[in-house]
Amino acid sequence: RAKQQGRNACQWFTPEIIHRMGDRVTLRNELQEAIEAQAFELHYQPLIDREGKVAGVEALLRWPHPLRGYISPAQFIPLAEETGQIIPISEWVLARACRDLHQLDRVGLGRLNVAVNLSPLQFHRASFLGKLRETLAVTGLPAPQLSLELTEGVLMNDTEGAIETLHALRTMGVGVAIDDFGTGFSSLSYLKHLPIDRVKIDRSFVSGVANSAEDAAIIQGIISMAHHLGLKVVAEGIEQEQQHHLLTAHGCDLFQGFLFARPMPLESLIEFLAEHRPLSIDGA
Ligand code: C2E
Ligand code: MG
Ligand code: MG
Ligand code: MG
Repeated sequence: RAKQQGRNACQWFTPEIIHRMGDRVTLRNELQEAIEAQAFELHYQPLIDREGKVAGVEALLRWPHPLRGYISPAQFIPLAEETGQIIPISEWVLARACRDLHQLDRVGLGRLNVAVNLSPLQFHRASFLGKLRETLAVTGLPAPQLSLELTEGVLMNDTEGAIETLHALRTMGVGVAIDDFGTGFSSLSYLKHLPIDRVKIDRSFVSGVANSAEDAAIIQGIISMAHHLGLKVVAEGIEQEQQHHLLTAHGCDLFQGFLFARPMPLESLIEFLAEHRPLSIDGA
């Protein structure tokens, strides 16, 4: 009977599905190997302020795969979330980002802010704040140099618990940004209850700002509302001068995108910062 069931069940496993399951298993195993070998890299993309100065960087995870080249986090983070592998990966990311930014300070490039993307699983874990404090203490990075990026969805489920964690982060001095803002179908009014510092307008609106009246209106709405709530606004995914120009005219505070710089390894960031180093007031 089991055999018969098995045979029936097999009808549902088309070659296509079997292929995809195989891919997932392979990916999961390869992720595990990468975690154990600490084979990930962290790249950094500058955030530019209204004066054109580098105001900080966003840390973006990179997985150099031996056969497939760099695999985008968009391709493996969802799986890592499902398998729980995101936890060790996230711990590595946070420690690496804190160490790297502290390193920049030591080589005289200043106390730049670093934004780290958080996984929902990581944020909602009971051990999250403790781990974070430990990482800051071990790496020596001052808390105000760190910002955490969360998506709207993370805050929508378990709002009360999330707000408590956000208050604790604020007390520590760690900044918080809502990432991919505008894509989450959540009401804008919930923002007023959240102790956060920044919203990041999603790339999908930025790419339309120059030729879609709707996207331009949404962006103006987000910026005006955010400013009334005392929040800074970052626009991500800026690729064209015209987008930068319009966003500047609408009052956007910080700009990020290929127009200014692509995400790059630490060594390249050091070169980039040295070239874009603002003249300090005392001429030092
Ligand atoms: P995100 O946090 O919204 O990051 C911005 C994404 O836009 C990055 O993709 C970045 O490379 C890309 N980008 C920046 N400027 C431009 C531009 O001008 N044009 C275009 N087309 N793209 C631009 P990336 O690095 O592939 O990361 C994708 C997503 O993966 C991130 O979206 C974030 O949600 C997630 N992610 C990345 N690193 C981490 C991490 O360390 N931990 C977690 N949990 N998630 C991460
Ligand atoms: Mg982000
Ligand atoms: Mg984003
Ligand atoms: Mg995005």
